[in-house]
Amino acid sequence: MAKLNSNYRKLGAGYLFPEINRRVAAFQKKNPQVRIYRLGIGNTTEPLPPSVIAGLRAGVDLLASPDTYSGYGDEQGEPDLREALALLYRQRGVSLNPDEIFISDGAKPDSGNIQSIFGTDNLVAFQDPAYPVYVDSNVIAGRSGTYNNASGSYAGFIYMKCREKNGFIPEPPAEKADLVYLCSPNNPTGAVAGHKELQKFVDYALKNRAVIIFDAAYAEFITDPALPRSIYEVEGAFECAIEINSFSKSAGFTGVRLGWAVVPKALVVEDSEPGEVNRYWLRRQTTFFNGASNIAQRGGLAALSPEGQQQCRAVIDYYMENARLIREGLQKIGLTIYGGVNAPFLWLKTPKSLSSWEFFDKLLNETQVVGTPGSGFGPAGEGYFRLSAFGRRAAIVEAVGQITANLR
Ligand SMILES: *Cc1c(COP(=O)(O)O)cnc(C)c1O
Repeated sequence: MAKLNSNYRKLGAGYLFPEINRRVAAFQKKNPQVRIYRLGIGNTTEPLPPSVIAGLRAGVDLLASPDTYSGYGDEQGEPDLREALALLYRQRGVSLNPDEIFISDGAKPDSGNIQSIFGTDNLVAFQDPAYPVYVDSNVIAGRSGTYNNASGSYAGFIYMKCREKNGFIPEPPAEKADLVYLCSPNNPTGAVAGHKELQKFVDYALKNRAVIIFDAAYAEFITDPALPRSIYEVEGAFECAIEINSFSKSAGFTGVRLGWAVVPKALVVEDSEPGEVNRYWLRRQTTFFNGASNIAQRGGLAALSPEGQQQCRAVIDYYMENARLIREGLQKIGLTIYGGVNAPFLWLKTPKSLSSWEFFDKLLNETQVVGTPGSGFGPAGEGYFRLSAFGRRAAIVEAVGQITANLR
C-alpha cells in the first residue's frame, strides 16, 4: 500500500494567510459597505520598467524564428546572465566564477530545495521569527521532531530569537548547528545584519564546519552603503555560505519567476572536497529542474543592464518611500516601529502588550487595515505585527490615514 511522507503531518497548521482571509471575510460579511485596506502582503504591485519589458519582448521575439529559437538551455542558466550576475558581485568587491552561480525559478524554490543536498541528520538553526519555507522544508525532509502547539516550535530545531534587545539580529547559537538559515534584510522584521554581526556567524560556521544558507532576496533595498548586500562581503564566507537571491522583489519578477543561488567551489562540509557541494547542487538541479524560462532570463539580463538597474532602482525607491510614509505616519501616533529603512517590511510592536492576533482584530475593526500577525512567523514574533511597503502609493496613503485617524 502506498504511504504518504508522514513528515507532512508534523507541519504546524500553515494557517496564517487562510486565517487572515477568514477573519477579513467574516468582517466584510458583517460590514458589506466598508472598504478594506491591505498593508500585509509581500507582493509587488508596480509595473516592470521599460527596459525590462523590452528585454522580455526581445526574449519572446527570439522564439518566433527558426534561426533564433531556443529550446532547453544550459541547466545552470544562460551563460550571459551568470556573467552579468558575476559582474554585479564584482562591482561590490565579491569575486565569483559564473559556474558558482545557478539560475533558478526563484528564491523560494531554492531556499526550500537546498536542504535536500544535506543529510537528514543535520542539526538546523533558524531565526525566530522567519520566512516559513526554511522551517517547513526541513520538517518535510524529516529533520525535526514533533510540533509543540503551546510553544509554537518543533522539537529538534534550534531557534535563534530575534528580539527588540538584540535589534532582531540574533547571536549564533550556543549549540553546534550544522545548517544555519539567515535572511538579511529580514522578512518579516526588516532588520539588516551588519558586517560584524555576519562575521560572528561566519566565524561560528567555520569553527563548527556548519553551512550558512543566506537569503538575500531584499539586498537591493539596502540604502545604507555600510551594510553588506552579500554574505560574501564578509571574510571567510566562501568556505561556509550558500547565498540565495531573486529578481522578484528587486525587479518585480514575482510573477515572471527568476532567481539564483551561489554555491562557491570553496565551500566544504564534513568529508567533502572543495567543489563537491557545488557539484551536488548541480546534480540536484539537473535531475529535478530543467532550467528557468528563457524569456525570463532575457528579462533578467535587461534588469541587470545599467539602464535596467537604474529603472529598477526607481521602483525600489518608490516602495521605500511607501515604507517611510508608513513609518513616519504611525510613529506620529506613538506606535513603535522597527525596520522599513533598509528593507520593505516594518515590524510594529503591538501597543498595550496586545497579542499579534488581538492587534490584527483591533486594526481591522477600528481602521479596516489588514496586516500580518508577527506570531505567524514564529513564536518570537508574538506581540509584533508586520506591515509591508509593497503597494500602490494612493492605497498606502489611505491606509496610513485610516490608522492615524481611527486607531484608538
Ligand atoms: C519574497 C521572498 C523570496 C522570493 O521568492 P521568489 O521565489 O524568488 O519569488 C525569498 N525569500 C524571502 C525571505 C522572501 O520574502
